[in-house]
Amino acid sequence: MTMRTYVHFICPNGHLGEERTSENDQPFSDMWESVTLTGMRAVKVGQEDHYTCEKCGELMSQTQRPK
Ligand SMILES: [Zn+2]
Repeated sequence: MTMRTYVHFICPNGHLGEERTSENDQPFSDMWESVTLTGMRAVKVGQEDHYTCEKCGELMSQTQRPK
């Protein structure tokens, strides 16, 4: 079974991004996890991981699922 988790992000200019995590939890297959980013990029700021907007480069912050 594959489990998918969606986390939504938004930048100060209102662009939306999405982080989709897929996890395979079958007992007889290798554990794997993959993260797919939509509309944003992963960056390192000091020791921390952040996402920046693909359109304007501002930092993204987590938001509720858009309606
Ligand atoms: Zn933006």
